[in-house]
Amino acid sequence: MDDLTHTYNPLDVPDNTGAFVIDSALMPVRERMQIACVRSATIAFNNGEIAWFDGEETAALPAEELIYLASDSAHDYFVYDDGERSPDHEGYGAWENILQKSGAEAARVRLEFVDIRHVVGELPTAQMQLVWSALALTAWHRQARFCEQCGTPLVSDRLGRKRQCATGHVVFPRMDPAVIMAIVDEQGRLLLARNSRWLQGRVSVLAGFLEPGESFEQAVRRETREEAGVQVDRVRYLGSQSWPFPRSLMVAFVGYTRETAVKIDDDEIAEAFFATRDSVRERVANGELTLPSNASVGRALIEHWLSGKLG
Ligand SMILES: [Zn+2]
Repeated sequence: MDDLTHTYNPLDVPDNTGAFVIDSALMPVRERMQIACVRSATIAFNNGEIAWFDGEETAALPAEELIYLASDSAHDYFVYDDGERSPDHEGYGAWENILQKSGAEAARVRLEFVDIRHVVGELPTAQMQLVWSALALTAWHRQARFCEQCGTPLVSDRLGRKRQCATGHVVFPRMDPAVIMAIVDEQGRLLLARNSRWLQGRVSVLAGFLEPGESFEQAVRRETREEAGVQVDRVRYLGSQSWPFPRSLMVAFVGYTRETAVKIDDDEIAEAFFATRDSVRERVANGELTLPSNASVGRALIEHWLSGKLG
């Protein structure tokens, strides 16, 4: 049975502006360093928490391998990308080797690499900004191999906050904006859909990437019309969430419709329907429906609607 209660909700994150700053002129000082490690979109944990290592424990790490995330009053946070390595790949365990060479405490070297989407509710919300940055930046470095203007290789520059080719072209990290929307009808029912790639019973709200030149509101209306054949009237912004798998920014809306008939896009959507709160609770409880991961803003939108916040 799916658990309909959880602690992390990207739509309820308190305003923590100012908790972290990005110092674009940072000169790294070993005493202030805290370094995490990412491997294939998973992050190193030690004893159930993100494994942050200080400058002493990572002394063998070459400075050019550091990617800078952000700073607070006490620390500068970095990530090291241990790449796409798997146990049968040469160089596997590079991070553990660095820690051992640096003389880190043996118990600290025993790491578990965790998919953050499975544990997000257990982490302090303040850490999530650093985690999303770590995943987004490492994914971008892996992808941005060659210069789009001249085709020559790009190398990391300015503590990993940009990449540069031999000709001098500079490339900055990119995120792709996508809209995700709770579409609610006049009876307060929510539009749920199953993507044609998903297993039977798995449903979520609709989502889609922006087309060039579109506003968010236009994208909400276009995607809903294309995927479910429903005309959306009023659209209201609710919040956003970085989703670096590999580089989306999910922008969440509620949209209201007077229509009740659904006509799906057969290529992308296997089924779509308006559901009442009682039917969703009941069908989730008896295992007929599965909702998106606790970590996702899609789940947060559904929870918002279940608690009556979206009308
Ligand atoms: Zn170039």
